[in-house]
Amino acid sequence: MAAIEMKNIVKRYGDGFPAVNDISLDIADGEFMILVGPSGCGKSTLLRMIVGLEDITSGDMVIGGERVNDKAPRERNLAMVFQNYALYPHLTVYENIAFPLRLAKMSDADVSSKVENAAELLELNEHLQRKPSQLSGGQRQRVAMGRAIVREASAFLFDEPLSNLDAKLRGQMRTEISRLQRRLGTTTVYVTHDQTEAMTLGDRVAVLRKGILQQCASPRELYEQPVNLFVAGFIGAPPMNFLPASVEGNEVKLPFTTVPLPAGLDASELSGQLLVAGIRPEHFEDAEYVEAAKQPRGHTFEATVDVTEWLGNEQYAYVPYESPAEIRAQVDSLAQELDMEAMRPQLIISLDPASRIREGEPA
Ligand code: ATP
Repeated sequence: MAAIEMKNIVKRYGDGFPAVNDISLDIADGEFMILVGPSGCGKSTLLRMIVGLEDITSGDMVIGGERVNDKAPRERNLAMVFQNYALYPHLTVYENIAFPLRLAKMSDADVSSKVENAAELLELNEHLQRKPSQLSGGQRQRVAMGRAIVREASAFLFDEPLSNLDAKLRGQMRTEISRLQRRLGTTTVYVTHDQTEAMTLGDRVAVLRKGILQQCASPRELYEQPVNLFVAGFIGAPPMNFLPASVEGNEVKLPFTTVPLPAGLDASELSGQLLVAGIRPEHFEDAEYVEAAKQPRGHTFEATVDVTEWLGNEQYAYVPYESPAEIRAQVDSLAQELDMEAMRPQLIISLDPASRIREGEPA
């Protein structure tokens, strides 16, 4: 097993804008790290540089304490699991898993014991004599993982491994990968553009945008303390509401109401600036429901709900405030009045040119 350290990594294709722009990131031995971001943000390129499939323009890639910039992929002892699994169709499951061991000229007895151990772990024992075409998508995925496991690689690298699967199977496989990684304790780097995968799988999540690392933190910290508007809007589904805001005295003026300034924010520092208030949908409450439950009422405002969505376990109310803008509120039950008591507005500065989002954005 190994820690992976990236120091000021840059990747430039031709003379264009860097696909990966000065990324420094340390992944601890045994850690499950997610690389997440929208299409084209550079996450696959970064993963490919770790594994050695892409040259590094500048910076240092250090794996297990050793600089590997100039090492070929096979010298890095990493196991990569691709989206399309890269299985050999003419080989059985057994031989697909055994493939790297055959290449290493391991004895039949050792191959057999390693393949059987991996198959046991992945619950593939009953399918060892099948061909990949006779397996479901999830089973093929496990074969690809089996091949990574038998190699006893020092880290697993996953590039969107679940994106070909349907929603239900994706959920199951997510749990399996998580369980397996915890059992094996192998350093894992996992690329996805799916923020649910990012939030549920990772010990830490690195959010990338346009080749730049925006924030690397635990899922909870990303959710509760996003460093800029991009991270705030990217993490969380349904997304955070962004409302124009200003601070006057100890109050925050929003388009439809005024609320007390949240604790921890300095009125004198924020006063006179154009701000954006970020409010998660679940930080609205339905006032009638709160009243019926005899909970203390907080700041209440009248809102006209024009569309509702009932999803069984949750319910959303849409409140238009300035066409076409709207607020998305997650409520327990519906009424004409929404209570903002629990909304805990997080003020995120966006329009000030000195704010972080501007710094983070390429010119
Ligand atoms: P996706 O989620 O769509 O796979 P990604 O975040 O993995 O996207 P990358 O594949 O790493 O993004 O690409 C990052 C940027 O580098 C993109 O702008 C892409 O067009 C560019 N790029 C990737 N590979 C090459 C290449 N071989 N030559 C030139 N540009 C490339």
